[in-house]
Amino acid sequence: MSANSLHSLDVAHHIHPVTNLRRHERQGPIVIDRGDGIYVYDDEGREYIEAMAGLWSVGVGFGEPRLVEAATRQMSKLPYYHVFSQKAHAPSALLATKLAELAPAGLSRVFFTNSGAEANDSVIKFVWYYNNALGRTEKKKFISREGAYHGITIAAGSLTGLAGNQKGFDLPLSFARHVSRPHYYRNALPGESEAAFVERLGKELEDLILAEGPETVAAFIGEPLMGAGGVIVPPKGYWQKVQEICRKYDVLVIADEVINGFGRLGTMFGSEALGIDPDILVCSKQITSSYQPLAAVLIKDEIYQAIADQSEKLGTFGHGYTTGAHPVATAVALENLAIIEERGLVARAAAMGEYMRAGLARFADHPLVGEVRGMGLIAAVELVADKETKARFDPVGKVGLKLFDRAHDHGLIIRAIGDSIAFCPPMIITEAQIDEMLRRFKITLDEITDWVNAGMPD
Ligand code: PMP
Repeated sequence: MSANSLHSLDVAHHIHPVTNLRRHERQGPIVIDRGDGIYVYDDEGREYIEAMAGLWSVGVGFGEPRLVEAATRQMSKLPYYHVFSQKAHAPSALLATKLAELAPAGLSRVFFTNSGAEANDSVIKFVWYYNNALGRTEKKKFISREGAYHGITIAAGSLTGLAGNQKGFDLPLSFARHVSRPHYYRNALPGESEAAFVERLGKELEDLILAEGPETVAAFIGEPLMGAGGVIVPPKGYWQKVQEICRKYDVLVIADEVINGFGRLGTMFGSEALGIDPDILVCSKQITSSYQPLAAVLIKDEIYQAIADQSEKLGTFGHGYTTGAHPVATAVALENLAIIEERGLVARAAAMGEYMRAGLARFADHPLVGEVRGMGLIAAVELVADKETKARFDPVGKVGLKLFDRAHDHGLIIRAIGDSIAFCPPMIITEAQIDEMLRRFKITLDEITDWVNAGMPD
């Protein structure tokens, strides 16, 4: 089939997620045909450095034969079985055990879903079920943050704090509340120290819990390092403050590690890097390097015990998905985690992350660059109209979108979050490849600078 007819078939029939659908009809898709290492290739053979690892997710890179073999082996032996009503299979039991071993202390019980959003929906239901089990039937609200991304289902999409995922959908539902994001560069008051900023955010959280009534607030959920909301690195002491307040009011702490987990911050989990002791942890994406759809909810044993008692009382824990804990997905995850361990990819992400961030830091003097931020192998460069005043471009996102588009011409796939440009390459990336990625970024940024200086013509 010719590239052109594939493009028109896609435009004619396929509704794309998180896409301006009219813009897609006008411009058509970039059809990605194959991948190899940090590269993907389109249907005309053009090479791109996948500087976002897909959707922050292809940790071991594209075309890893061991994952293909693990999937094929499992497909031949047992392509499907469920884990409802006391059935089990080896890959999911072994993966649950492996996750309990790798996870921060106490997270010894594991529930599998197909996606991050389903995992967060499951978290909400676990927490509601848990509080019902304890007779705390009012304790149901969740506190999240502006800029958070927790998925797009009705419940998880309510925890998300991004207008683009909520506008037009009647979200968020009322069980979800949002506090400020911990972005010092953008949200600190003039002259405010990092410590004072953390204190102020702590007070905002505590005031909200008190205003709602602690007996109605069940949980606080946050990405250790916020991803889709702009790669926001929290200031020192932020998570300690959040935890201290949550513990005071018996509010569960939930770490959404869908992006952070399995090495991205240079530690196995982001909770380790940022000193979080979560009651519940959610992971996905790099669990299979996204070769298979899979997410997991890890729960502390004491929460599990209350839920298990309740399931006996009610006759069943009536929650689950037909393809949750899928044997092929869990088998691929086991192999993927083995690769991450054998190849030392967590330490590698730390080392390559340092190299990448040092390279990006050289852009800090560029007239359009307001902030360069990141941790481990994830970073963002925020572009601004005025470096001194930090003024944003008007409209926000126009420059980011232009850069995103033009980067394709230079063989680079990045993500524009407003006017922040995100980098989150596969953990197998080498120093030479980072140099090449930054070279392609520089060419694109220079072009964009000329376009901005020309008054941003359409
Ligand atoms: N949580 C976080 C932190 C995420 O980044 C994402 C996806 N980008 C999700 C949840 C939702 O995952 P999914 O797209 O698999 O539903």
